[in-house]
Amino acid sequence: MEVKIPSYVYLQKDAITKLSRVLEKIDSQNPIMLTGRTTKQLVERKIENVPFTGIFIVEKGSILQAREIIVGVSYGEVDTVVGIGGGKVLDVSKVVATELNAEFVSVPTTASHDGIASPVASFKENGEPVSISTKPPVAVIADTEIIKSCPRRLIHSGFGDLISNITAVKDWRLSKDLKGESYNEVAATIASLPAYLMVNRAKDPDFRLENEIETLLRGLIMSGVAIAVVGRSRPASGAEHKFSHALDYLGYGYGTHGEQVGLGTIIFEYFYEKEYGDGDWELIREALRNAGAPTKAEQIGLSRDQLIEALLYAKKIRKKRFTILEALDLSKEDFEKAIEETRVVD
Ligand SMILES: [Zn+2]
Repeated sequence: MEVKIPSYVYLQKDAITKLSRVLEKIDSQNPIMLTGRTTKQLVERKIENVPFTGIFIVEKGSILQAREIIVGVSYGEVDTVVGIGGGKVLDVSKVVATELNAEFVSVPTTASHDGIASPVASFKENGEPVSISTKPPVAVIADTEIIKSCPRRLIHSGFGDLISNITAVKDWRLSKDLKGESYNEVAATIASLPAYLMVNRAKDPDFRLENEIETLLRGLIMSGVAIAVVGRSRPASGAEHKFSHALDYLGYGYGTHGEQVGLGTIIFEYFYEKEYGDGDWELIREALRNAGAPTKAEQIGLSRDQLIEALLYAKKIRKKRFTILEALDLSKEDFEKAIEETRVVD
C-alpha cells in the first residue's frame, strides 16, 4: 500500500510567501486558488507573484459549491488546487482537487481542527454530517502570523480536536484487543504523541495557547498524516467524535467541532480511567481549561438532558466503529454519574 503524506510543510511566520516556491517544486503549470472573500483581501499582496489561472470565492461550504467550481474549470487543465482559508474553503478545495485529479495545497488560516492536512472533507447536507475521502495535500503551508489572528475560539477548538486523539487511539487499541481490528502502531503514535505533548504543556496554569500555536499546528498536521497513513479517520476519531456527531444530528448546543470533541474526551477518558485504569480525566480537563476551551456543557449551550440524550444517541452512530461505547454498553445511569463526577454538569 502506498502512503501519501505531504511532501512540503511550511510552518512559520510569513510561510504563505513560500507558495510560489512550492508550486515550482511540484511543477505546477495551471494552479487555481479557492478562498474566502475576506481572506483574499488579507493575503492578496503576499501572493501577488503567484500566477493563478483562476480564482474562486467559496461562499458556502457545500458539495454543491464544489461541483459548481468543477464545472467552471475545464477538466484536465488544472493541475493544482490551492485552498486558502478555514474549514469550509479547505473542504471544498479537497473535493475539487480530488475530482479534477489535481494536487491539493492546503493553506489554513485557522487552527480549528485536524482537517487542515487530512484526506477527509466534511460537509453538512440537509442538516446531516457527511464525510468524503479525498486525496491528502501535497503541501501544507501554515502561516503562523495569519493563524494567530484568527478568533481565539477557533484556536482552542483545534486544541480540543488534537487532544481527542487520546481517547480515539485508546478506542482503536481496544478494538484491536477485543475485536481483532487491524491496527497500526505508527499511525497511532503519530496521532497521540502530539496530543499528550500538548496536554502536558497545558497542565501548567501559566500556559498560553497563543504562544503554543506552532506546536498545536504541528500536532494537527500530524493528525492528518496519521489519517492518511491508514486511509481512514480511525487514529483521530473515536467515541468522543460519535458524541460530537450526535450533537450535530440532534442540533443541540452551539459548540464547535473541537469544543464538542473536547468535552467528549473528558467523559470517555473518565470511563477509561474507571473501567480500565488507563487514563487521567482530570489532567484532560485541566489542560482544556488552561487552553481556554469549555469543560462544562453549559458553556456550549447544552442542558443536562441534552447532554445525556446525545451520549445515548452516540451509541447509535457508526456502530461498525468499535469504541468504548460498544465495549461497555454504557447506560443512562453510567453517563449521569460520569458527567457529575467530571463536573461537566454542576
Ligand atoms: Zn475531529
